Amino acid sequence: MAGRLGRGADQPGFRVEFNSALGPYKGGLRFHPSVNLGIVKFLGFEQVFKNALTGMPIGGGKGGSDFDPKGRSDAEIMRFCQSFMTELYRHIGEYTDVPAGDIGVGAREIGYLFGQYKRITNRYESGVLTGKGLGWGGALVRTEATGYGAAFFAQAMMDTAGDSFDGKRAVVSGSGNVAVYGIEKIHQLGGMAVACSDSSGYVVDEKGIDLDLLKQVKEVERGRIELYAERRGSARFVAGGSVWDVPCEVAVPSATQNELDGDAAKVLAANGCRYVVEGANMPSTPEAVDVFRAAGVAFAPGKAANAGGVATSALEMQQNASRDRWTFEHSEAKLEEIMRGIHTRCHQTAEEYGAPGDLVLGANVAGFLEVAEAVHAHGLI
Ligand code: NDP
Repeated sequence: MAGRLGRGADQPGFRVEFNSALGPYKGGLRFHPSVNLGIVKFLGFEQVFKNALTGMPIGGGKGGSDFDPKGRSDAEIMRFCQSFMTELYRHIGEYTDVPAGDIGVGAREIGYLFGQYKRITNRYESGVLTGKGLGWGGALVRTEATGYGAAFFAQAMMDTAGDSFDGKRAVVSGSGNVAVYGIEKIHQLGGMAVACSDSSGYVVDEKGIDLDLLKQVKEVERGRIELYAERRGSARFVAGGSVWDVPCEVAVPSATQNELDGDAAKVLAANGCRYVVEGANMPSTPEAVDVFRAAGVAFAPGKAANAGGVATSALEMQQNASRDRWTFEHSEAKLEEIMRGIHTRCHQTAEEYGAPGDLVLGANVAGFLEVAEAVHAHGLI
C-alpha cells in the first residue's frame, strides 16, 4: 500500500507499506518539508532490503509528512502528531505495521503519536511504535545503535582483512546522533577519530576528538561545531570545505546523502584511506563508489553498515512482546552479533556471486534473496 493519509489544514501525510514478507512493515516517519510520496516510496523500498539484512523478522515501509517542525511550539507539534495518528492508527499495529522515528520525529513525537494511538484504540500496544521513551517501553542502546553498529561493522571488515582499529585515524562527518556514537565506539575499539563536521564546516583535532566536549557542544548546548575548536587548544575549525581532505585510514560518512562525491573519494584514496563505512543513508555518490572500487578501498554501503538502528528497533519489539527489559550490556552484545552477522552475509554472498570483497553487491543480493524467497514461499507470485 502506498497511501496518503489525507490532508489536514494544509499538510498531507503518507505511509508506504512496501513489503511484509519477513514481518510487519517497519520503517520511520519523517517530518520535513522535502517529504513527498516519491521520496517515501524510495526510502521504503531501500528499507525492505536493509531490514532483511538484519536477519530480524521485519518487513519494510516508510512514512511521513511535509510538515516542518522547525519553529513550532511543543503544543503545535503535539496537535500535529495527534492529527497524523488519527488517520494512521487504522493502518498500523504490532503485527501489521510498526513505524519508528526518522528526521523530525524523535522520542517526543513518538510519545504524542503513541498517546493518540492508545486514546483511539483503548489498547496499551507497546509494540505498535519503536523509539519510545525508556520509561514506557523504549529500549536501551537505541540512541547509540546506528553509530555503534557502523563501528562494529567496520571492525568486522577489519577482522576479515586480518586488521584492527588499533591506532587507526578516522574521519567521521556530521556531529549528530550517528556521528557522535560512531566516534564513541571507534575510540572504545582502539581507533582515534580526528575530525567531524556540521553544515557550517569541520574541526580537526590531532589529539583525537574529545567526546565529552563534543557531546556538550552538540547534544547539550546544540551549538555549532566551531565552538568545539574554540574550547579545545589542539583543534582547529575550517569553515565550509570538505572534511574528506583530512587524511585518515577509516572514513565514516554520517551526515547526509551525497556528501562524498568522486573528487572527495579521490582525495581520500590518495591520502591512504583503506575503509569507508557509511553511517548515513547513501552519503557516497555512485562516482565515489567507483573510485573506491578502483583504488581497492574496502567500502560498506549504508544499507548494511547503518542497519544497527533498525535492528535495535526490532530488539525493542522483542522486549515489548515478552514484556521484558534488557540491560545495556545485553542489548549491545546483541547489536554486535547482528552487525557481525550482516557483514558475514554480505561478505559470503559477494564471494558466492563471483565478486569477492564487493559488499555493495553482497548486500543487494543477500537482502533481495531473503525477501524474494519469503515472497515466493507465501505463494504471492
Ligand atoms: P542528525 O540530524 O542527528 O545529524 C546530522 C548531522 O549531519 C548534523 O551534524 C548536521 O549538521 C550534519 N549535516 C547535515 N547536512 C550536512 C551537510 N550538507 N554537510 C555537512 N554536515 C551536514 O542525524 P542522524 O545522525 O540521526 O542521521 C545522519 C544520517 O544517518 C542521515 O542520513 C540519516 O538518515 C542516517 N541514519 C540515521 C539513523 C539513526 O538511527 N539516527 C539510522 C539509519 C540512518 P547541522 O546540524 O549543521 O545540520
